[in-house]
Amino acid sequence: MNSYSLFRRSRLRLAFWYAGVMGVILSVLGFGIYRAMMQANWAAMEREIESIAGTLHDSVEPLLPASEAPIAVLRQIFPDLCLSEQPCNATPTLIQRHTIGISDRSTYYIRLFNHQGHLLAFSPNQPLALPNTLNRSSWQTFRTVNGIRYHQFTTILHSAKDHHQANEPNAHPSWGYLQIGRTLEPFDAETRRIQWILAIGFPISLLLVAVSSWWLSGLAMQPIYQSYQQQQQFTANAAHELRSPLASLLATVEAILRLPTSSQHDVPMMLQTVERQGRRLSHLIADLLFLTSLEQNSGAKPFQPCCLNDLVSDLTEEFLELASASDIHLTSQISNSEIYVLGHESQLYRLVSNLIANAIQYTPTGGHVMVSLESHDRTAYVTVQDTGIGIAPSEQTRIFDRFYRVESDRSRKTGGTGLGLAIAQAIVFHHQGQLLVKSEVGVGSLFTIYLPCIHDLIISLKAESRS
Ligand code: ADP
Repeated sequence: MNSYSLFRRSRLRLAFWYAGVMGVILSVLGFGIYRAMMQANWAAMEREIESIAGTLHDSVEPLLPASEAPIAVLRQIFPDLCLSEQPCNATPTLIQRHTIGISDRSTYYIRLFNHQGHLLAFSPNQPLALPNTLNRSSWQTFRTVNGIRYHQFTTILHSAKDHHQANEPNAHPSWGYLQIGRTLEPFDAETRRIQWILAIGFPISLLLVAVSSWWLSGLAMQPIYQSYQQQQQFTANAAHELRSPLASLLATVEAILRLPTSSQHDVPMMLQTVERQGRRLSHLIADLLFLTSLEQNSGAKPFQPCCLNDLVSDLTEEFLELASASDIHLTSQISNSEIYVLGHESQLYRLVSNLIANAIQYTPTGGHVMVSLESHDRTAYVTVQDTGIGIAPSEQTRIFDRFYRVESDRSRKTGGTGLGLAIAQAIVFHHQGQLLVKSEVGVGSLFTIYLPCIHDLIISLKAESRS
C-alpha cells in the first residue's frame, strides 16, 4: 500500500471515529434535552391542573349542601355544568366565571361525583367516552377514540357538615369527588413540534459533524504526513550520501585486487583513498547518529554552566592554523565580562566550531573571519562573520536542512556532507536558542547564535561563595 492511500485510510478512519463519537454525544445530549423539556412541560401542566383544582376545591367546599340529592344547590353553584341524568342545556351565557374560576373552558372540564362515585354533574365539553363511575386514582391519562389524549386529576370534597361529623362512627369520610381534566392536544402538538425539530436537525447536524470531522482529520494528518515525507526524504538522502563513498571504496578495493604484481607500488596510494572514503563514511554515520540522539534527547546529561568566553577563545586558537593555511585572517572579539550559558559544553563546542569551519571553508584566500561574543538582556550572542562567497537569499532558509548543500558540487569538493548546519541548528534548539543567518553573495555571511545566558546568576553565586 503506498503512503498516500495509507494516509487517506487513516484520515477516513479518524473522521469516522470522530463523527461516531460526536454522533453519540449529540444523540445523548439531544435525547437528554428532549426528555428534560418534556418533563418540565408535563410538570408545569400538572402543577397548573393541581392549582386550578385547589382553587376550585377551596371555593366550592363551603357551598356544598349536606343532602343526598343536592341537584338544586349544584345547579346554583355550577350553572354551566350539566347535571347527570338530566337534559344538558347549559349555555356559555350562563357561565359564572367567578364561581369556578377556570379561565380556559375549552381546555379544561370538571366533573363532580358523590361519595359512592356516581357522577352528579359535568362540564359540557368533557370527552364523550368518559364513564359515569369514578376511578379513584389521583392522576389518569387516557385517549379517546378520535385519538385526543386527556389528563385528569381527582380530589376529595368535604362539605362543611362533614367536618363536624368527622368523629361520628357512621359518617361518610367525604361529600364526594371533584375531577378536573384537560385535553393534551396543545401538549402533544408541542411534543410533535420538538420531535420534528429533532428529526430534521439531528441528521443535518450529523452531516455537519461528518464534514467537519473530515476536514479536522485532514488538518490533524497534515503534520504527520509532512513529517513522514521528511523522513522519507531523509532516508533517501542518507542512502544517496552513503552510496557514493561506498561505491568509490568498493571500486578502489576492486582495483587493488586486480592490480598486476608489477604495479604493487600503487597500492599504498590506493589504500589511502580507501581510508579517506572509510573516514568519510564513518563521519557521516557519526553525524547522523548525533543528530538522531539530539532529536530524541536520548542519554541527555544535565546541563552545566558553560563559560562562552573560554569556548570562543579556545576555538579561535584551534582554527588559527587552518585559517592561516588558507591565508585567511581569523580574529576574535570577546566580551570582558564572563558570559555563561546552561548547556552541554561538547555540543556548544561543536556548534561554534561548525560555524567557524564553514566560514573558513567558504571564504577565499585573503579574506577575513571574525568571531565575537557579547551579551545583552540576559542573551548571549556569538557571531561568526566572514568575507566569503555568501549565500543567495533563496538558499538561506534551506541551508539548515539535512544534506542540503548550495551548489552541491562546490560543497562536495570541500568535503562537506550538508549536515554541519543541521547539527548546529539542532544543538541551538536543544539549548533553547536561535541561529540566524544574514548573507550577501560575494560580500560575506554573518551567522548569529542567540542563547539564554545565566551571567547574573553566576555572578551572584560567586559573590555568595566569596562571602
Ligand atoms: P557542508 O558540510 O556541506 O558545509 P553545511 O550544512 O555546513 O554543509 O552547510 C550547508 C551549505 O551552506 C553548504 O553547502 C554551503 O554552501 C553553505 N554555507 C554554509 N556556511 C557558509 C558560509 N559561511 N558561507 C557561504 N556558504 C555557506
